Amino acid sequence: MVNIVWQSVINVLAPRKCLVCGNVFEETFTPKRFDVMSHICQRCFDRLPIAPKPDTLLGEIAKNFLGEKFAFSRIISRFAKKDDLEQEYLHEEDNAAVSEIIYAIKYHGMKDAGRAFGRELGETLQMLGWTDYDALVPVPIHSARKRERGYNQSDFIAQGVADILHIPVQTAWVHRKNYTLSQTYFSFEERKENVRNVFAVNPQKVQSLRGASILLIDDILTTGSTLNACGVTLLEGGAKRIDAATLAKA
Ligand SMILES: [Zn+2]
Repeated sequence: MVNIVWQSVINVLAPRKCLVCGNVFEETFTPKRFDVMSHICQRCFDRLPIAPKPDTLLGEIAKNFLGEKFAFSRIISRFAKKDDLEQEYLHEEDNAAVSEIIYAIKYHGMKDAGRAFGRELGETLQMLGWTDYDALVPVPIHSARKRERGYNQSDFIAQGVADILHIPVQTAWVHRKNYTLSQTYFSFEERKENVRNVFAVNPQKVQSLRGASILLIDDILTTGSTLNACGVTLLEGGAKRIDAATLAKA
């Protein structure tokens, strides 16, 4: 009873609504903080475009690094920002939906939503049997950017994955030493140059890192240049094997 009353108060003060379509959830709905259905309505969720399969993704991303060090044994993304061949019936609005979610998590501090979608990703990993890791490592942002924004969105996503897989999140194994420019308007070659040597392993963590199997986690996979730079740094620091998981594929 108390719960219901309290929930009504919350609903009046800050009605829960869908991140994508903005529709307010029914008053009888009892949201659970880290449940994805507390952040998106069923209709919008069902229409989210699904990313290409892991083998397809790996092939596509590995092509970008021919003749260079490539960090990953496997790559998975949960949702897709752009349509691809597998989604010929995709509507423009569905494309925008995934961007809305990423944007909310990245810039609007929707931590609970980040963790909820992280759980969603974790359930997919569990279903595929990708569970054999010593650590989940969120791709770090620079400390100055973290101060400015107040958080690293990939930390929440990793936390959500950890809720499901029960694998520790390690945020101190690797850090970002340079404050890089946003990659948005860069060509692929510029992206690679922009992130070259920006990551470094924390010298105090080398011991734990040695021989570890790591799942590297980020919000979005574009060309893979940031993820790969981070993955290569971890391998050079002594990690045994790296896979990557992102919420979305651009
Ligand atoms: Zn909706």
